[in-house]
Amino acid sequence: MTLYWCELAWLGGPRAEAGVLVDVQDGRIAAVTSGIPAPLSGARRLEGITLPGLANAHSHAFQRALRGRTQHGSGSFWTWREQMYRAADRLDPDSYLALARATYAEMALAGVTTVGEFHYVHHGPGGVPYEDPNEMGRALVAAAAEAGVRLTLLDCCYLHGGIGEPPGDSQRRFSDGSAEAWAERVEALEEGESVRVGAAIHSMRAVDPGSAAGVAGWARERERPLHAHVSEQPAENDACLEALGHTPTGLLSEAGALAASFTAVHATHLADGDVDLLGGAAACCCVCPTTERDLADGIGAMRRLVDAGASLSLGSDSHAVIDLFEEARAVELDERLAGGERGRHDAAALLRAASEGGHACLGWPDAGRIEHGARADLVTVGLDSVRLAGTEAESVLGSVVFAATTTDVRHVLVDGNTVVEDGRHVAVDVPRELDEAIRAVMA
Ligand SMILES: [Zn+2]
Repeated sequence: MTLYWCELAWLGGPRAEAGVLVDVQDGRIAAVTSGIPAPLSGARRLEGITLPGLANAHSHAFQRALRGRTQHGSGSFWTWREQMYRAADRLDPDSYLALARATYAEMALAGVTTVGEFHYVHHGPGGVPYEDPNEMGRALVAAAAEAGVRLTLLDCCYLHGGIGEPPGDSQRRFSDGSAEAWAERVEALEEGESVRVGAAIHSMRAVDPGSAAGVAGWARERERPLHAHVSEQPAENDACLEALGHTPTGLLSEAGALAASFTAVHATHLADGDVDLLGGAAACCCVCPTTERDLADGIGAMRRLVDAGASLSLGSDSHAVIDLFEEARAVELDERLAGGERGRHDAAALLRAASEGGHACLGWPDAGRIEHGARADLVTVGLDSVRLAGTEAESVLGSVVFAATTTDVRHVLVDGNTVVEDGRHVAVDVPRELDEAIRAVMA
């Protein structure tokens, strides 16, 4: 048993609580007691505000190598995609493991306790399967374990280069050839205490409706999370409407994909009917504002989605930055710019998207909250930096959401294990490993 005394802690309400004692046993929270003015003897003191674990619900780990290399100049999502394919071309299981481990460790430093990896670089060069066809997926599982974070491996079905087109040269590594072959491969992946295996439909550009129905059926029968990229770009909507007569959301609905266990990633350019479909299904929408702004995707209608019944989660996606506070505030600030109105999402709702919402959409309903019985994930944010000095307990949630950065994260506990101590990862020299892993892939 370990006792933690939190100077302030967010227990899910509109405000933080002062003097919260958290009793951790066997990786779970055994008790939470508020209003304890001073630490009990033997309790570990956590100064600042302690949050539940954050979940990065949409990651492509290898794209961390592109940071800074693809942000300059003009170009579009589609020219960025060519640069991204060149990085994917160079990956092998060893370089993928090293890059993902360093990237996940960077996430841990940012307070991320669970990552949802949307994984599609499955096969060797030219699409030739590795001896173990899941070697790349297993590299990600090992990477997360070594970085000390929980993983939902969202194994992605990716079959076409565009609607009705075979995969292009770079896309052959992504394709299993059919939804049946995808399912057969994914069946061989084991889950564990810190690993869930979910399903993903890359997009309705890359998976035909019949195959999408197959993937959705697989996820439904096994009660696994199902994610898909949805309407990131207007061109995706145009292609689906022209060739198939429905929006991507409409096609996913026809394929039986929409459910509370479904997550629409981006959901940026939705028709009114799409919002109703996603909300009516109580689906989750994972927004990735720092990537969406980098790629000039646009701004989604997050408030309308929530009003319609959808939940929100957050992802750093291409890892242009890895900072869920930045993703969280962007949900509100981007909608302010787009709509000329403030206050569509309060700080607690934004933190909920970063924690409970992300964990739920990744298949970890027992994580992302500081409460009795939950997994013992604690993220302590110091309030003594230049960014947060002067913070008041009354408005601390707003201070954290609107002004904190990852460098304010002091301690991170995952399933009761300390992963970050005083701002340093306990197992990984993160800057050095990032540097080496990125140079190996981009050389
Ligand atoms: Zn993505």
